[in-house]
Amino acid sequence: MLSIKNLHASIGDKEILKGINLEVKAGEIHAIMGPNGAGKSTLASIIAGNENYEVTEGAISLDGEDLSELAPEERAHKGVFLSFQYPVEIPGVSVTNFIRTAINETRKANGQEEMHANEMLKVIREKSELLEIDRKFLSRSLNEGFSGGEKKRNEIFQMAMLEPKLAILDETDSGLDIDALRIVANGVNKLKSDKNAIVVITHYQRLLDYIVPDFVHVLLNGKIVKSGDASLALELEEKGYDWIKQEQEA
Ligand code: ADP
Ligand code: MG
Ligand code: MG
Repeated sequence: MLSIKNLHASIGDKEILKGINLEVKAGEIHAIMGPNGAGKSTLASIIAGNENYEVTEGAISLDGEDLSELAPEERAHKGVFLSFQYPVEIPGVSVTNFIRTAINETRKANGQEEMHANEMLKVIREKSELLEIDRKFLSRSLNEGFSGGEKKRNEIFQMAMLEPKLAILDETDSGLDIDALRIVANGVNKLKSDKNAIVVITHYQRLLDYIVPDFVHVLLNGKIVKSGDASLALELEEKGYDWIKQEQEA
């Protein structure tokens, strides 16, 4: 589904990604871990089409289609979803209206008709129940005065509603208490199917107790230096990243 080949990217004259290779198939959950500043968020932003970064080499494709010339909205319409580490506030636009617009824009871009209002309400009800989201929450202004946990839950709700092919969750666990973490993780697990893929970016192993990845990759200084299964995350929790740095230097 997602194929990244020898991806190099810079901002100004600073190279941040230094040759990333990553293959993610439908039905898989991949975790990307690594110390602060390794380039995890940069990688997520570039997949989503953030134009502040310059891709200097390599390619990203989704279902065999090269994404490089596509704007962020076009990528979103093709099913790429990126949760934001720091979500924006949109006063006056409710959670429900935001999602309604997003869904209909996506449908329009794919040549489909708008979702009928009744159908929309039905889906909203189903998904909000699935994620244990209070009905009152849905009429609040987007992210305005949301607690950390509410912001994250809202992101997962957006993801549930949009049903992306590829969901990238960038540090969705940061700032969550254990109950919110469990709800977010439950939501992600319920949304997992053999038609979508999920990339979870996290600094800590904690989230991976709840969302068990098929593969774990360690990103260090702009490169994936190690890949393994879920046990690699436990090893990182126990031993930190220094041993991998030392392996690299040896
Ligand atoms: P991570 O998410 O792994 O903590 P980031 O992708 O946020 O790492 O950052 C990787 C490196 O790129 C850091 O050294 C960071 O300072 C730098 N960087 C990221 N975005 C920018 C930017 N917009 N301008 C300048 N430097 C940036
Ligand atoms: Mg960071
Ligand atoms: Mg980051």
